[in-house]
Amino acid sequence: MRRAFICGNWKMNKTASEAAAMLRDLRGAVSMVRDRVEIAVAPPFTALAAAAKAIEGSNVELAAQNCHSQGSGAFTGEVSAEMLKDLGVAWVILGHSERRQLFHETDAGVNEKISAVLKAGMLPIVCVGETLAEREAGKTLDVVSTQVKGALKGFSAADGARFVVAYEPVWAIGTGKTATSRQAQEVHAHIRGLLTELWNPDTAQQVRIQYGGSVKPDNATELLSQTDIDGALVGGASLKVADFAGIVKAKG
Ligand code: PEP
Repeated sequence: MRRAFICGNWKMNKTASEAAAMLRDLRGAVSMVRDRVEIAVAPPFTALAAAAKAIEGSNVELAAQNCHSQGSGAFTGEVSAEMLKDLGVAWVILGHSERRQLFHETDAGVNEKISAVLKAGMLPIVCVGETLAEREAGKTLDVVSTQVKGALKGFSAADGARFVVAYEPVWAIGTGKTATSRQAQEVHAHIRGLLTELWNPDTAQQVRIQYGGSVKPDNATELLSQTDIDGALVGGASLKVADFAGIVKAKG
């Protein structure tokens, strides 16, 4: 039985003090789902330290939105996995479509970053998903296959079982358009099939696959009730306590 996992991706929103204030409220609002749902938030780098302090002793974990693949060195403006681990980060979101589109991230680059995240003692949330043009051209499953195989290549089943994959159709991110539960389930089942080929059936059954793309309290129950949808990666609706807690409770 896979434990549901809901993660909020705050993107470039909230100062350190705004983050701390929201998390002081959120921890109380989601404390009742302690064993049933795993919860994380991914504030911007500048708010991670304040966020870590604000969630201490709660059932909310800390995630980061990206990291560099190298441990240290002349990479101006970048942050290493070790630096995140040192702040109390448990999860790192990798390959988000905004990073792929705006910062030219590739599957090979995501693959390197996963290695860095594991080496530092954290776990990845690996994002995949098709654009609207790709969906309309009937290429969704091919695009997702290429991304999953490219990003996860070379990792053992033992590591892989702890990974989280987030299926986020690009056309549903921040647009208010959600994939139907049927569209999402089709891709999630396809991803689980790929994980079976890559590793083995047992491992594939352990991997949690989140859905992301305009998840809100009012569509969460339907999406999260699908067989292969094990949680959500939530952007806009993770910025308000009531909305994010509403999504958590839809599963808890
Ligand atoms: C995201 O950025 O990962 C996301 C799913 O955003 P939104 O929920 O706003 O569509």
